[in-house]
Amino acid sequence: MSSPLAAKNKSHAADWRWQLRRRIRSAAELVAHFPALGAHAAGIAAAAAKFPLAITPYYASLMERADTDDPLFRLAVPQAAELAEQTFQSLDPMGEGRHTPVPGLVRRYRDRALLLVSATCATYCRHCDRKRLAGQREGALTPAQFRRAVAWIARHTEIHDVILSGGDPLTLGDAALRRMLAALRAIPHVEIIRIHSRAPVTLPQRVTPGLVNMLRRFQPLWLNTQFNHPRELTAEACAALARLAEAGIPLGNQSVLLRGVNDSAEVLEELFRGLVRNRVRPYYLFQCELVRGVEHFRVPTARGLALMAALRRRLSNLALPIYVLDTPAAGKIPLTPGTILAANSKRLKLRGPTGQHAVYPEPR
Ligand SMILES: *Cc1c(COP(=O)(O)O)cnc(C)c1O
Ligand code: SF4
Repeated sequence: MSSPLAAKNKSHAADWRWQLRRRIRSAAELVAHFPALGAHAAGIAAAAAKFPLAITPYYASLMERADTDDPLFRLAVPQAAELAEQTFQSLDPMGEGRHTPVPGLVRRYRDRALLLVSATCATYCRHCDRKRLAGQREGALTPAQFRRAVAWIARHTEIHDVILSGGDPLTLGDAALRRMLAALRAIPHVEIIRIHSRAPVTLPQRVTPGLVNMLRRFQPLWLNTQFNHPRELTAEACAALARLAEAGIPLGNQSVLLRGVNDSAEVLEELFRGLVRNRVRPYYLFQCELVRGVEHFRVPTARGLALMAALRRRLSNLALPIYVLDTPAAGKIPLTPGTILAANSKRLKLRGPTGQHAVYPEPR
């Protein structure tokens, strides 16, 4: 690895605000960082003009080659392929805009609400499914918007689970987060609060002892992150996960199945084993949404199902996420390889993960 930014000043690099300030934000900065990209600068600039570019010095330092065959490079560096338009793709593939009763709040399930508290991310994922929001205009919900969203939740007593998402909520400072968590905790019917953040992956410096000490006061609080490749489980990332786990915060992971990144049984096995070793439960493996600019990442669902079947033969259920497709019409739908061959009121005929059949008689 030859990253001049990573080699520079260790103490600054450990500061999350330094990491955010020093993000690579343009094609020119990318080329300065990876001179081999010179020939592709125009394509990168065109893609970055459409879908925002930001990469923390930390995440850039994990890239081994300036080439889209490198999975981490592929996850974060824009490429001309993003400009290929498909008529069926949109900027809001889950139709969240139609389920937004007040700005910043998405409600698609009876008992849960999603709060899009920040439009900023440390590093913009090229496969992001919230491209209508993330990085389009970096910023956060205003205090007035947040108050309206909280008032809406307070009026809807059926909401038991509130998810802070974005963008990335952990791009906010501790004080702003504490105010949001305190306002949500003051609502009696809000049972659990979740934070969806990719900071453990692209900005592990953010998970400071001060942050976890603040978060632990708002239990039960769950955190779901998004590791997509085992190489993202660095010493820094694992230390961040350990700090969160030690604070009693249950950890989950929502990967996205991405061509050329993690569409192999070996890579996914290593990723899921690594997550469990770090006390993170693989929760979802998402099929790529029909979002603009991601066609080069999509994997056929037949391949995804075959990968899940292979993983079931290799891994404990503890390490197996649910493979899901999120649809505007019906929400998240699990995709499962067929295990039920035939069923009637008398018995169930099944096929196990290694192909053997089994029969289960139903109660009389
Ligand atoms: C995914 C999602 C949730 C959370 O769903 P779980 O299956 O409980 O993790 C909640 N609200 C919205 C709008 C979502 O898209
Ligand atoms: S962290 Fe989430 S919101 Fe931000 S770019 Fe990645 S997928 Fe999109």
